[in-house]
Amino acid sequence: MAEKICVAVRVRPSISEESPSGTFWKIEDNRISLHKLHGTPISGLSYAFDHVFDESCSNSKVYELLTKDVIHAAVDGFNGTAFAYGQTSSGKTFTMNGSLNDPGIIHRAVNDVFQKIQMISDREFLIRVSYMEIYNEEINDLFAVENQKLPIHESLERGIFVAGLREEIVNNAEQVIKLLESGEVNRHFGETNMNARSSRSHTIFRMVIESKGIDTGSSDYSSSDAIRVSVLNLVDLAGSERIAKTGAGGVRLKEGKYINKSLMVLGNVINKLSNGAKQRAHIPYRDSKLTRILQTALGGNAKTSIICTVAPEEVHIEETKGTLQFASRAKRITNCAQVNEILTDAALLKRQQLEIEDLRRKLQGSRSEVLEQEILKLRNDMLKYELEREKLEMELEEERRSHKEREQHIRDQQLKIENLSSLVSDGDRSSSQDSMKESPKDECNDFKTPCFKETSNNAFVAKRSNYSELPDFSPLPDSFSNVADEDTWFKMNKGYIADLDSLQTTPARKVQSFPPQDITPDCSNDNYKLELQNLKTQLELVIKEKDELQRKHEEEVQINRRLMGEISELKQELDLSNNSLESSAQRYGNLEREFQKLKDERDSLLQTVSESSKNITFLTDQKENILKDLNCEVQRRKDLEAEIKQFSVAFASRQRSLASIHGEFKSKIEKLRAENLVRY
Ligand code: ADP
Ligand code: MG
Repeated sequence: MAEKICVAVRVRPSISEESPSGTFWKIEDNRISLHKLHGTPISGLSYAFDHVFDESCSNSKVYELLTKDVIHAAVDGFNGTAFAYGQTSSGKTFTMNGSLNDPGIIHRAVNDVFQKIQMISDREFLIRVSYMEIYNEEINDLFAVENQKLPIHESLERGIFVAGLREEIVNNAEQVIKLLESGEVNRHFGETNMNARSSRSHTIFRMVIESKGIDTGSSDYSSSDAIRVSVLNLVDLAGSERIAKTGAGGVRLKEGKYINKSLMVLGNVINKLSNGAKQRAHIPYRDSKLTRILQTALGGNAKTSIICTVAPEEVHIEETKGTLQFASRAKRITNCAQVNEILTDAALLKRQQLEIEDLRRKLQGSRSEVLEQEILKLRNDMLKYELEREKLEMELEEERRSHKEREQHIRDQQLKIENLSSLVSDGDRSSSQDSMKESPKDECNDFKTPCFKETSNNAFVAKRSNYSELPDFSPLPDSFSNVADEDTWFKMNKGYIADLDSLQTTPARKVQSFPPQDITPDCSNDNYKLELQNLKTQLELVIKEKDELQRKHEEEVQINRRLMGEISELKQELDLSNNSLESSAQRYGNLEREFQKLKDERDSLLQTVSESSKNITFLTDQKENILKDLNCEVQRRKDLEAEIKQFSVAFASRQRSLASIHGEFKSKIEKLRAENLVRY
């Protein structure tokens, strides 16, 4: 379904201390207008957009309102692009990269993508990232400094892509942030009057999100399942200001020119697209690298949002107006985004499917981080080998083409030489016969080329001789200055014989290598000899040239051979790398087996441990019971002892009382006895 590009304007906080003297930008809801200092708006300078963010707005809000939907759609398989446009120091980089306290759109998008895919349990994802800059119309890889001046290619399978660009497969947001930091170091920074660290390059951070449904019913993955592939571009453009304002010359001027070229083409593309379907006949995407790379994002299959950053200061009013006009035009563009489902081998996920399944099987039941690292490394290795192979194939193709061109060039030169030689030998023959009239028929054959055979004898040369009789003509242009080129001209015209004299529009020309006397009956022998001499010197020169060319050809053949050798060496290296990949896969298998063994051992140990701990618990329980019993016994013994003590105390006191009773009794008996004795 067609939908408009989402466009927002963001005004950064004012840097200058000065308060406005004549006009200021006023923001109301989603409208920005230029006002006179004391209120009244200036007509024709009021613009409405999807959002207008004032200076107090945070990156988090910009992300939520402007880009979040694009990012979420990318996870669902729609291409997405967010880019920041505006003059230098208006806040593009602040919006895209942000600050420590308020991370920008790129960081938020990366986090969001990983958070979102965590929540999707019925699809598996493969994410790779790349980071490039366009500096002076050359594409450089920010992940690999050695990859410079990369070409843009297009294929049915992959669409438009930057050949040789390093891509990294990533598992989590932290990895991406680290990669981005390393890439940032490689960015080109320059100095201008406007901003001491103004970036002079466009940067494109790209995430390719591939996903595939998981058949939860079984572990089988049908090979015909479609894979969704979406590309997410997050673009930080270089300053859009006019070069004059930067006040720079030399290198800086050159940079400015290129930046302006890219942005000018971007402006043209946006202009054409905003003019509606009628004028869409030709959109000049190919005129700059930037528009070519962003082609699908502009008027194509993508969800796009543009944030146009502006500076509020009065000195920047003209640039701000320019930016707002750009934004207004962009607002009129419609895109037609659809989920990209593909069935071909273009999806990396598909190419790595077998390996992934294998790894997943191996991984089942285990959550080891080390293993996941190993898998990520293997996947990245595989991707790297693929990219390297692609690069080698391209180089080989390039080499073949230039080789063919060189051969063609040499063939052309040889043809020229042969033509000249035959001409000279014919000239010799004619000279020895001392009559040119006698062999008029041969003249035509002297110019014989495969196509020329079909022409009649009297045609071109006869006409030209008439033609060349005219005096004081302008010299021939270079391409017609020798016979071979005339032949080529003939060939190009497929044997058509032109009556040059009848060509009124072209000024008459003089044939340098054929003076008027060459065939006319009244020519002088001396002149002819002179001409012959000339031709001979020319021939010598040409032969020399031919020798030189042959020498160069031999050199080139040598170079070719060396290159082929190098290529085959590289291939061997690739094979070696593949072997080492295989061996690391084997090593991985071994590790996996060892890991499994260790896991089994650990499990059995765990079982023994749990049994022993059961026993221990049982024994502890028993011990506790016994201790309890023992305590009871001890207590009882203590009680008994106390009782015994009490008893013995009581016993002793009883004994004592008994003894005293006994004593009393005894004394009583004694007394009684004595009384009795007295009585009796
Ligand atoms: P650009 O990339 O467009 O050249 P920058 O993003 O580098 O501009 O911004 C220039 C300066 O303004 C930086 O110091 C940046 O921190 C500051 N800046 C830009 N936008 C904002 C904002 N919305 N809030 C706070 N500071 C900002
Ligand atoms: Mg910047």
